[in-house]
Amino acid sequence: MEAQLAEDAENFSRSLNSVAERFRIIGKIGEGTFSTVYKAEDLHYHLFDNSWDLDRTPAKRRAESNAEPQTAKKLKKSQEGNERRRKLVAIKRIYVTSSPQRILNELVLLHTLSQCKAIAPLITAFRDQDQVVAVLPYCKHSDFRSFYRELHISEWKYYLKSIFTALEHVHENGILHRDVKPTNFLYDISKRRGVLVDFGLAECEALESEHCACRKHGDSLRQFVDRQPTGGYLKNDNRPGRRANRAGTRGFRAPEVLLKCLNQTTKIDTWSVGVIMLSFLAKRFPFFNSADDIDAMIEIATIFGKPKMAAGAKLHGATFDSTIPTIPDVPFQFEDIAVWAITGGAEDSDLTASLRQTYTTDENYTQAFDLLRCCLEIDFRKRISAAEALEHPFLVDV
Ligand code: ADP
Ligand code: MG
Repeated sequence: MEAQLAEDAENFSRSLNSVAERFRIIGKIGEGTFSTVYKAEDLHYHLFDNSWDLDRTPAKRRAESNAEPQTAKKLKKSQEGNERRRKLVAIKRIYVTSSPQRILNELVLLHTLSQCKAIAPLITAFRDQDQVVAVLPYCKHSDFRSFYRELHISEWKYYLKSIFTALEHVHENGILHRDVKPTNFLYDISKRRGVLVDFGLAECEALESEHCACRKHGDSLRQFVDRQPTGGYLKNDNRPGRRANRAGTRGFRAPEVLLKCLNQTTKIDTWSVGVIMLSFLAKRFPFFNSADDIDAMIEIATIFGKPKMAAGAKLHGATFDSTIPTIPDVPFQFEDIAVWAITGGAEDSDLTASLRQTYTTDENYTQAFDLLRCCLEIDFRKRISAAEALEHPFLVDV
């Protein structure tokens, strides 16, 4: 297996001259839906613009520029130091099956957003025939699965503050990330810092976001829908299907994405952060595990209940109805869901009692559940924004 990985990295390096000249491929670090990512050393780090270096704080840069001329001895020592501090990068080899438009979109957005420390900036990009690679600083991180259960609630705050800070910047620029999930947020527990990556599905927010265009579009649709019989699936449904951007990852898609709302807003990203938060609170990952969009709606409806889902659907000119008996009329409380998920439903256990006690008396938890509710709000107009989340009592003092 390892030999195969090494061979793959070697083949990749040889296949692209520009990569081989400047970078030494160390190994494969990730394989996503649209790319393979390699860890590499930038052999010519000192010859190029280093403003991307996330470790070079403004203070460090100022100190460097004001530094006195170095003696030969000092210079040698600092060169050795540099040698030890090899500059590592992540080389993202975008699959040739991706459309040129999609690749361009990702590179342009990465470049546009490069001022924020919580977003991995684009260092450079190469194209060789149909192969495009993007080079980003290597961000040390831990696998979410290895820490989400054990991480203390006080540490969640740093994780969430970091992800909301990145999103605030993305959203200020009128961009929707569309694929917020743990594998796209590279979190370094020791530094309490995370970096948002993967703008492959990101897009610019449509104007008039507050006045959801699909509501206007939906008015005529709604009139039509309201005339339909309720209480089951429509027979011979001849309404035209809706086409809307549904990009994203199963389990992290906001209801309006599942409902194919035509004018989605930056609030789809705060929903996804809510889903991550639910994993912290319920100690389950992934929390939602649906096979398709219909399943995903059923999972969400099982928590929120029929009336809320129906009201949410109406907002987008759609209807929600179901005869599934597990979809309740009254929503479940997230505190009950967390207790159930952690204890496996053992109602009389000591653990259940102690969790219930903690959730009602520990201020950290009461605030965390409140922020969770603000993120997982079906009505996107009432859902919290990234900027507001940073001001929420759970995060404001971090
Ligand atoms: P895809 O579009 O294929 O999902 P991503 O940009 O999400 O590609 O990268 C896939 C994986 O590669 C990530 O989940 C992460 O593990 C790793 N990765 C991506 N960028 C970096 C980076 N800058 N530093 C370290 N690892 C990275
Ligand atoms: Mg990804």
